[in-house]
Amino acid sequence: MERVHLKDLNLTYDAGRLSTRRETDMIVLHHTGNPTDDDLSAEEINTSHQAQGWTCIGYHYVVRKDGTIEVGRPHWTIGAHAAGENSHTIGIHVCGNFEIGEPTDAQIESTAMLLANLCTDYGLTIDRDSIVGHRELMSTACPGRNLFAQMDVIVGKANFYAAQ
Ligand SMILES: [Zn+2]
Repeated sequence: MERVHLKDLNLTYDAGRLSTRRETDMIVLHHTGNPTDDDLSAEEINTSHQAQGWTCIGYHYVVRKDGTIEVGRPHWTIGAHAAGENSHTIGIHVCGNFEIGEPTDAQIESTAMLLANLCTDYGLTIDRDSIVGHRELMSTACPGRNLFAQMDVIVGKANFYAAQ
């Protein structure tokens, strides 16, 4: 299996305030959801989440519109992306507002390859039980209807990549 390239922006935060996650049985997809279909960097999200009083960016990964995968908080730590579900999940943020915009082909491929890597690393079956949209956990539009509509395609591609 090919490993994705992870771009580490060396975000500034107090790593000592993060906790190790004991269990990982699910990966949650998110979008940005800003009205302007933004392509925010992990650094910009980090700054914005810190301004809300959080330790750092709540997501573990950020998939930019060009397919670049940026590192958020460390993957082994408890995230801040899905209320009540952070203790057992990894959060992937796909940049854009997919209520109005479409994920790029590069985002679809990068997300699928990242999911293949993560599911393999954590021993998860690559299916729609392990990989969910935020809206399946609580009442939210996230990750947007146009990304949500592609989740079966993404999971199929993740299975393909994991088998290579
Ligand atoms: Zn979300």
